[in-house]
Amino acid sequence: MKSILLRMGELYLKGENRGMFESILVFNIRKKLEGLKYKLQKTRGRILVTDFDREQEVVERLSKVFGLVSLSVAEEVDVTVEAIGDYVSRIKIGDKTFKVDVNRADKRFAIPSMQFAADLGEIVLRCNPNASVDLYQPQVTIFVDIRNNGKAYIFDKSIKCQGGLPLSSSGKALLLLSGGIDSPVAGYMMSKRGLKLQAVHFYSYPYTSQQAKQKVITLAEELCEYVDDIKLHCISFTKVQEEIHAKCAPEFMITIMRRIMMRVAEIIAKREGLGAIVTGESLGQVASQTMQSMTVTQDALNLLPIFRPCIGMDKEEIVKIAKDINTFETSILPYEDCCTVFLPKNPVIKPKVDKARAEEEKLDVAALVDECMAGEEIITIKKQ
Ligand code: ATP
Ligand code: MG
Repeated sequence: MKSILLRMGELYLKGENRGMFESILVFNIRKKLEGLKYKLQKTRGRILVTDFDREQEVVERLSKVFGLVSLSVAEEVDVTVEAIGDYVSRIKIGDKTFKVDVNRADKRFAIPSMQFAADLGEIVLRCNPNASVDLYQPQVTIFVDIRNNGKAYIFDKSIKCQGGLPLSSSGKALLLLSGGIDSPVAGYMMSKRGLKLQAVHFYSYPYTSQQAKQKVITLAEELCEYVDDIKLHCISFTKVQEEIHAKCAPEFMITIMRRIMMRVAEIIAKREGLGAIVTGESLGQVASQTMQSMTVTQDALNLLPIFRPCIGMDKEEIVKIAKDINTFETSILPYEDCCTVFLPKNPVIKPKVDKARAEEEKLDVAALVDECMAGEEIITIKKQ
């Protein structure tokens, strides 16, 4: 019988919490496979999917589950010398070089792994007279994984999955999602570390277009390939930007904007029970992403940490991930982000906290934040 062998990664490091992590992982797998026919079994150290009919679709979906490092589509046979030998004798490899790799999780199977691999190699040679053994760089490796459930799994390759930790196993956070390249990548990276995300997007209609907002919805949908669903909070930022533009020193435009974004984000996060804020900032990428700018932005928050997974990455590295997770093409669509509206010629590169606070006092920040919240629109985004 065909089955899919799933390997968990870092879960092994989790000691006593491992049971909890595994249950979350299994829950997430079931959610991902919703609508498909399959059965799921847990054996020690592995998860098995059996009784499926759409192999490719099942594999495709599983490869996007955080917490799985790799999977193999395998043939499941009984753990007897005859059953394993019989299946191996039917493997056709023509004139390729090969080796057999036996892993014996179940030591009740008495033949040592090396010995058994050699025995099976003999069988392969007998059934494929033109094949030859190469233990170091074989073209084909036949893996035989003898598990504790009385079954052995025979396969010839592993498909890489996402790795990371199961979604939700690290808690929940709020992603500041713009229409750019970086923030979707940041969202992916933190989801991969087990954070279940909600997102907030600030738009400045009519300075930014309806398409700009739609672009963010599309990006969130693309992220849902990995995270199932995202609650997206859309906040109109027009009034805030007009007020800052009218009242504050132009070079502080972005600094103050970002401080107010953080305040709004913190209110949403607290209300929704989210423990951190996630942004796509990368050190030095633009004026608002210097160490000093980030200090001033963080100053607007009371308690929540800001996670910036892209902080140490070059643009090229971020772009690579954006392409891998399929958000890149959407991100480069030309619609304006609200951060580009009223953009000053010379933004402060090293703002000081005191100066920013003083500029901000020219505004009724509390009223502006209230107005943002009053216009909040919530959209629940799901995988398409
Ligand atoms: P991105 O590619 O993610 O847009 P960026 O390089 O354009 O980032 P900035 O415009 O300085 O950089 O924004 C830095 C971060 O602030 C973004 O990664 C995002 O997390 C957040 N952000 C910026 N604009 C918005 C917005 N309109 N709505 C929500 N978050 C935003
Ligand atoms: Mg941007």
